[in-house]
Amino acid sequence: MQSETQSEHNVIIVGGGMVGLSMALMLARHNIHVQLLEAIKYPEFDGNEVVPYHSSFDARNTALSRRSVQIYQQLGLWNALQEHATPILQVHITEQGSFGKARLIADEERVESFGQVIENAWLGRVLLTEVRKQPLIELIDGVEVTSLTQDAELACVEAKRDDEVLTLSAKLLIAADGRDSFCRQALGVGVDVHDYDQVAIVTAVQTSKPHQQVGFERFSELGPLALLPLPGEYRRSVVWPVKKGTESEWLGEKNDQHFLDALQKTYGDRAGKFEKTGQRFCFPLSQVLAHKQAVGRVVIMGNAAHTIHPVAGQGFNLCLRDAFVLLRFITEQLENSNDIGEPEMLKAYEQARLQDQQRVIRFCDSVVRGFSNNNPILKLLRNTGLVAFDVIPGIKPLVANYAMGLKA
Ligand SMILES: Cc1cc2nc3c(=O)[nH]c(=O)nc-3n(C[C@H](O)[C@H](O)[C@H](O)COP(=O)(O)OP(=O)(O)OC[C@H]3O[C@@H](n4cnc5c(N)ncnc54)[C@H](O)[C@@H]3O)c2cc1C
Repeated sequence: MQSETQSEHNVIIVGGGMVGLSMALMLARHNIHVQLLEAIKYPEFDGNEVVPYHSSFDARNTALSRRSVQIYQQLGLWNALQEHATPILQVHITEQGSFGKARLIADEERVESFGQVIENAWLGRVLLTEVRKQPLIELIDGVEVTSLTQDAELACVEAKRDDEVLTLSAKLLIAADGRDSFCRQALGVGVDVHDYDQVAIVTAVQTSKPHQQVGFERFSELGPLALLPLPGEYRRSVVWPVKKGTESEWLGEKNDQHFLDALQKTYGDRAGKFEKTGQRFCFPLSQVLAHKQAVGRVVIMGNAAHTIHPVAGQGFNLCLRDAFVLLRFITEQLENSNDIGEPEMLKAYEQARLQDQQRVIRFCDSVVRGFSNNNPILKLLRNTGLVAFDVIPGIKPLVANYAMGLKA
């Protein structure tokens, strides 16, 4: 079966992960009609369950910066999202076996929190439920985009579901189809790839001490370990990048106690006793940076544009800021009755985003590389740096603003 639709003001989004769904909602709130194509068939929901169901909305938790929370507030989604979110009131950064310690405290920075940790499965559920309610979004799931072409007037995709082929075209196409983006490849856009030779072990644990909304980043001999507060006083999210090839040591029920013991050894008594662990999942870690983000009438976004290391919980926050700025460019075009896919406008968007993107990319990459080195001089410098950070006036507000996504 073959069908075809065309419309002058449509935006096509390829990829309905966190970025694609969020972008679709932003556009629809500005009365822009969106066709959203997603390879996975989304489930129907029963009751109020929070079940990981999708490669994006899985067992992970996302630290949303204050800026991201503001964006969801503006979209009118925060009330629903916060049911499964918890604020971060303090962040403690330490290195195992070293004296340095840095603390960020929300009260001292005069902010109500540094951000919120949300369960991805819930984020996905709220976004999808909202998208399904939105008459301006046509959600076409269970279809894989297999062709992307464009001419001076339109971008065009073919999407396949079994033997059905759908042909769609629009003035603007947003490629949010993830790290291994088909669209990026179809456009002939190259990437710089750095494999960190790590996988992130991800799970939720229960500790005997309440988390009191404190997040810990601890640089241990096994890698940088993030322990973030979750909804529920004693639940915490763990993201632990370990050397690729060693992950089997930590996965599976038979390794539950071994994993809890390793956390205990790394954290000492800071979180009390590590009592229970959920199932562990692992994610290979690499940095993938597209050489271009705007090609003709196509803009590449999300992980398809820049996949970064999760060490500082910045990846999605950066994507959301990209989406917000792109929305501004598009709505300005509409207000002036201009073409919403104008290649020059998309180039201007790309240019406008480079500084924030490069700052975040450099920051995350240098944290991973800087703390992965066991050279004693570097270790001393790191410790001195952490101590200086804790005592020199003026540094903390800068870093806090940056981490909260407010210095974009
Ligand atoms: C362990 C870990 C922890 C993280 N923690 C944080 C954090 O705390 N804070 C933060 O800001 N960021 C964090 N991130 C980063 C964040 O997860 C990513 O930035 C985000 O998932 C990117 O979403 P996306 O929609 O761009 O890509 P994806 O989630 O990969 O979505 C792409 C979508 O496109 C679809 N697709 C692919 N190909 C096609 C096709 N041909 N046709 C149709 N559909 C297609 C896929 O099915 C998928 O649904 C973390 C990442 C990891 C790995």
